Amino acid sequence: MMRRRASRPIKIGDVTIGGGAPIVVQSMTKTDTRDARATTAQIRELAECGCQIVRIAVPDKEAAQAIPDIKRGASIPIIADIHFDHRLALLALEGGVDGIRINPGNISDPEQIKKIVLAAREREVPIRIGVNAGSLSPAKGAEKPVAERMVDAAMEQIKLLKSLDFELIKVSLKAFDVPTTIEANSAIARKMPYPLHLGITEAGTPRTGVIRSAVGIGTLLYMGIGDTIRVSLSGDPRQEVVAGYEILKSLELSQRGPTLISCPSCGRAEVDIIALAEAVEERLAKMDKPIKVAVMGCVVNGPGEARDADVGIACGKGRGVIFRKGEQVRTVEEKDFIQALMAEVEAL
Ligand code: SF4
Repeated sequence: MMRRRASRPIKIGDVTIGGGAPIVVQSMTKTDTRDARATTAQIRELAECGCQIVRIAVPDKEAAQAIPDIKRGASIPIIADIHFDHRLALLALEGGVDGIRINPGNISDPEQIKKIVLAAREREVPIRIGVNAGSLSPAKGAEKPVAERMVDAAMEQIKLLKSLDFELIKVSLKAFDVPTTIEANSAIARKMPYPLHLGITEAGTPRTGVIRSAVGIGTLLYMGIGDTIRVSLSGDPRQEVVAGYEILKSLELSQRGPTLISCPSCGRAEVDIIALAEAVEERLAKMDKPIKVAVMGCVVNGPGEARDADVGIACGKGRGVIFRKGEQVRTVEEKDFIQALMAEVEAL
């Protein structure tokens, strides 16, 4: 039984992060933020597949000036991602963002940070101290392991924010390599009370990035660490949200959406089980009901192996058995497999 680390809750818009709240799934838009219409459309797509908070890059003044329009069209809270120029954080706050992410590696002047903090404090907008292994200052502790330097960078900035009487803090320590991310997060989790946002940065394409993220984020979550997650993928951001929920569901930390149980197929299968599983997965992707659906390649092992599924099909030559909770309920022809299975799913 995993015990979650007790963290101090904050609110990004109307979403609570930390303090025992359910783990929040985030993503980031990939549109040009200056194009408010395209950005808002992508935020809508992300919200439809369960994204609870979205981050937008604010690389210049024009992007910051698009924030009020984006805010008006968005149904979920928005975090402005700021690098290098603290004035963009001030503009984003004026524009009504719900959270700010700053990177200690590229805004390090305490006077500039102070300006951001005072503006955020006035509006009660939380700040994420987002440390990336790739942007650590080369001047600080270069002889130390990267994980330790990441922790040091975050702790230094936490100290500065606290000295300004600011506690609406969230922290992230992201690296490309999984062991460094795990080490850094498990170390900082013992040192400070603020909620942690988890992710593996530059994780790669959906094929490899989902695995890297699942191993890194999943390991930390299983240790009880982490209050919000983002799977970073070189792909459609909706895939990030789907992957995020799959990680949470695999650890029984979320009930959102169906879970597909499908057998790998083997010499005993007499139908194309891989194509069938893919077709069912595609249909289930449009649903948010928390049910388990099994697609099994034979009647010998099917119902038994998927006993905890709510509904399933075990396929034989030309015919398949529909089952509920491991109990057989009826037999259907191969041409009706998908339709019959989906009818059972709908009936639930
Ligand atoms: Fe093979 Fe049947 Fe198991 Fe699928 S359920 S892997 S077909 S034995």
